[in-house]
Amino acid sequence: MENTLSNEKEIPVFGWAARDSSGILSPFSFSRRANGDRDITIKILYCGICHADVHFAKDELGHSIFPMVPGHEIVGEVIKVGPNVTKFKIGDIAGVGPFCGSCGSCSNCEKGWESYCSKAILTYNAHDHDGSITYGGYSNKIVVNEHFAIIMPKGLPLEGAAPLLCAGLTVYSPMMHHGLCQSGQHLGVVGLGGLGHVAVKFAKAFGMKVSVISTSPGKKKEALERLGADSFLLINDQQQLQEAKDTMDGIIDTVSGPHSLHPLIDMLKTCGKLILVGASITPPVLPYMPLMFGRKIIAGSAGGGMKESQDMMDFAAKHNITADIEVISMDYVNTAFERLAKNDVKYRFVIDVANTLN
Ligand code: NAP
Ligand code: ZN
Repeated sequence: MENTLSNEKEIPVFGWAARDSSGILSPFSFSRRANGDRDITIKILYCGICHADVHFAKDELGHSIFPMVPGHEIVGEVIKVGPNVTKFKIGDIAGVGPFCGSCGSCSNCEKGWESYCSKAILTYNAHDHDGSITYGGYSNKIVVNEHFAIIMPKGLPLEGAAPLLCAGLTVYSPMMHHGLCQSGQHLGVVGLGGLGHVAVKFAKAFGMKVSVISTSPGKKKEALERLGADSFLLINDQQQLQEAKDTMDGIIDTVSGPHSLHPLIDMLKTCGKLILVGASITPPVLPYMPLMFGRKIIAGSAGGGMKESQDMMDFAAKHNITADIEVISMDYVNTAFERLAKNDVKYRFVIDVANTLN
């Protein structure tokens, strides 16, 4: 999926970057490649703050490249299209998620599993095809091959839809892939954060029974009353865990910190599936006896493909699914990072880039 570069000049861009593993962001000027033949240039309107942005900015996963402009939940207006672009025209609203490139020809790409291509390129903190560093959506413009942008459906509020580009896709993709999307199935969602709360919304739209498994008693009321979960379990309440044993067809684990998998495996029915999507820094201990004797499956999942991204967003539009958000200005981002690390947001920060990045 390489771009043919035209003779045009690189595009000057302004954003906020982390300079080192303190993760503190500050204003940063840089440039992006000129709009290639299959590229679109997007004027960024909104960008969600994923917990991965905090992990990467603080170098918690160990391969951060500084300076780093985070952001992979990007929504904006198309302001330029290359001559070979077919999907977009100027004025359209496009979305960009965690991936902005792949080889385009391997078996994963052919299946539409771009995020599993060995040459997949992250939207930020990665090397692009030309060797340059990719910079994300905490910035005023982005240039991307049209294949890695999706069409934002009309009718969905853009600020609430932006987080779906990563949070939504990350939970929707394994639910579809593992068949955890059937009406009447019972799904556990561990961690009611950015990913978790949209997992509840997708699962309810699929007609599933949903149990939220949380560390935060303060989230119970709205999990049940507003998000529509069927039950709410506290992970350290032994009686609740006992009662939930052998009841769930699948569990999506979105937890961003160290935690035990054992009680989760116990909640699965025979052949149940535990899908890990949270990026806990400490590797989990694998309790293999309950896995073997329950014929249970533990799987991981990262992002999703581009067709799947479009399907997810179209499904969200059909069912009126958006993230619950707190819209912030660009200069609030460092406070937002601190609050996100302390589990103090319901449930996603979204930066109003167009109006506050000056
Ligand atoms: P988030 O908004 O911070 O939500 C994480 C939730 O996990 C929290 O709200 C909290 O829920 C729970 N939690 C946090 N720390 C915990 C701990 N130490 N023990 C138990 N529970 C804890 O984060 P997010 O943006 O949803 O992202 C979640 C994780 O997924 C991050 O690690 C992120 O990097 C990763 N991620 C992975 C992918 C992928 O492709 N696989 C994509 C995006 C993000 P309760 O208050 O309900 O307990
Ligand atoms: Zn993300």
